[in-house]
Amino acid sequence: MGIEENKEEKSEGQILSEKLFNDKKNSWDSFSSESIDALHQFAEAYKQFIDRGKTEREFTALSAEVLGNAGFLDLDGGTEDPLCPGARVYQVNRGKALIAAVIGKKSISGGVNIIGAHVDSPRIDLKANPLYEEADFALLDTQYYGGIKNYQWTAIPLAVHGVVIRKDGKMVQVCLGENEEDPVFTITDLLPHLAREQMQKKASEMITGEDLNILAGSKPFKDSKAKDKVKLNLLNILHEQYGMVEQDFNSAELEFVPAFKARDLGFDRSMIGAYGHDDRCCAYPALRAVLDIATGEPPEKTVVCVLTDKEETGSAGNTGAQSRFFENFIASLLLKTEKKESDSAFRLALSGSAMLSADVNSAFDPNYDGFWDKKNASYCGKGMVLSKHSGGSGKSGGSDANAEFCGKVQSILTRNEVPWQTGDLGKVDKGGGGTIAKFVANLGVEVLDSGVAVLSMHAPFEVISKADLYAAYEGYKAFFREA
Ligand code: MN
Ligand code: MN
Repeated sequence: MGIEENKEEKSEGQILSEKLFNDKKNSWDSFSSESIDALHQFAEAYKQFIDRGKTEREFTALSAEVLGNAGFLDLDGGTEDPLCPGARVYQVNRGKALIAAVIGKKSISGGVNIIGAHVDSPRIDLKANPLYEEADFALLDTQYYGGIKNYQWTAIPLAVHGVVIRKDGKMVQVCLGENEEDPVFTITDLLPHLAREQMQKKASEMITGEDLNILAGSKPFKDSKAKDKVKLNLLNILHEQYGMVEQDFNSAELEFVPAFKARDLGFDRSMIGAYGHDDRCCAYPALRAVLDIATGEPPEKTVVCVLTDKEETGSAGNTGAQSRFFENFIASLLLKTEKKESDSAFRLALSGSAMLSADVNSAFDPNYDGFWDKKNASYCGKGMVLSKHSGGSGKSGGSDANAEFCGKVQSILTRNEVPWQTGDLGKVDKGGGGTIAKFVANLGVEVLDSGVAVLSMHAPFEVISKADLYAAYEGYKAFFREA
């Protein structure tokens, strides 16, 4: 039957439809079998990387390690002077953000090609004075970080990652709950039997921010005279393991994240379920792309991979995209390549630059199909997402890329056979969200939002397609070479 149909000539309307309609194939159909092998390998490496780099500090440290191994030199250490085409450099900002670059053949004053992603993800942070005892439990009081649905973070295993600055000034690294033999933590939920009232509440009030208390211990210190013995016992353990006392919580950055690892998802293993795809599923491909560029012939333009912090809280602060870190990095490159210190050369470098703001987009979810305009949603498996604009009602509060730049990026992707699609966050007036795009666009850089479509965004367990992860990697490489 199929053979008969193939013999039939296409009608004029069919030929015209192929020419004129904008139909997007599923990426799995457009990738060759070699590419599909490569994308599964890429996904394996991604899972391992994000299991080791769950927080902004860990992802930054791991990236610096990988870059160092690939011959990138720390800009704050000794680099060659001047930096010549092909030179590889990176810089870490306070352990939480990182920029890496490969110097191109053309002058930096003419502009650079940038991919910018963020490495912080929604999570549960501790308050300055978190520890208390109640009903013979030791509990930790928290403040959530980023936009979460509080109820999703109860009754799941949590791990703690972060640093404690002790009274003696020494920094102690904490990472507990990731190894099989480690203990984990949790935020309890009310049993359904007693939840009649709770279940009548609005979802935003069911579990309030103040209710997010972490269960951390229940065993009293053996002593007949001491008070708060469960709390005392817990502090005693922390003192033995980390040398800390209660006051050290005041300066600590301890972040609770889901304790589970990234897993293949589905019978066909086509997807990955994990904590914090947002935005490590863009940050990792961006990092791999800059590493790949470094191994070949020096690029025409200098390529810059920005991994920033604080996106989930609005990009403010000295490790976020609103800080001067990126600008200072470009100024340093100008100085180290061309000995240029002038403000005008710096401004021209920025206005001549092009950037893909690499962040996740909301994938169309058939369980909630009223929330997207299906013509303008992004879909799992349909390739790298390009979003002309971000923001909320009336495009407010976001960045809106110029048509000329959208056209340029689209043609680079098409020329390189990278599957891509467009994607709005959701229906008009349903909500909105921002990325780092606007902060860099304000400097004069051409910026377009791009990334990977994700299901259950900001939930403890987010879902992406392996095909889209790989498309982002291929897309970022093409952009670095050709923008
Ligand atoms: Mn994001
Ligand atoms: Mn986010």
